[in-house]
Amino acid sequence: MKIIIIGIQGSGKSTQGKLLGEKLQIPYLSTGHIFRVLSKENTPLGKQIKVLMNAGFLIPDEKTLKIVEEYLARPEYKDGYVLDGFPRTLAQAEKFHQDLDKVILLKISDKEALWRISGREEIREDETLMAIRKRIELFNKFTQPVLDYYREKNLLLEVDGEQTIEQIHKEIVEKLHI
Ligand code: AMP
Repeated sequence: MKIIIIGIQGSGKSTQGKLLGEKLQIPYLSTGHIFRVLSKENTPLGKQIKVLMNAGFLIPDEKTLKIVEEYLARPEYKDGYVLDGFPRTLAQAEKFHQDLDKVILLKISDKEALWRISGREEIREDETLMAIRKRIELFNKFTQPVLDYYREKNLLLEVDGEQTIEQIHKEIVEKLHI
């Protein structure tokens, strides 16, 4: 199965994405992780990515699409994947030509997201309050059209992300009929 998992930062995408990947025996990957690895490289691209990430800005669509497509062309993803963090803009969604089975939206309020992230034990370099607020703002602005796009295609599955980890996983499994 090819699954996308979408939600604001702090919505539990990576936790649920990994659980779902295990359940379906397919790999989980996140564009945030890919970009964090690239940002540590001492190359012009690495430096550009680092600056954008630390400010909470998005990486340009063309760059993002190229990187994601290169990753998904690897043999380990040929039988499916759970992809977290992509697409984040309508342009990314429209240019992403993969036969998706479902797009899962983990719904939580901005307040709950900020609350969860502030309570984390390890805070990453790109998790300043400013960067987090910027990401939430950009999500509301650019990712809402992505949700409408997949809703129209009947691929969107909405899940209440403010339940416990187990309850959310159960709801996803039930709604996917797996
Ligand atoms: P995340 O861990 O998903 O919040 O991603 C961290 C950062 O990586 C984001 O703030 C962006 O700078 C970058 N990023 C991740 N996914 C994308 C994407 N699909 N398009 C553009 N930038 C992205």
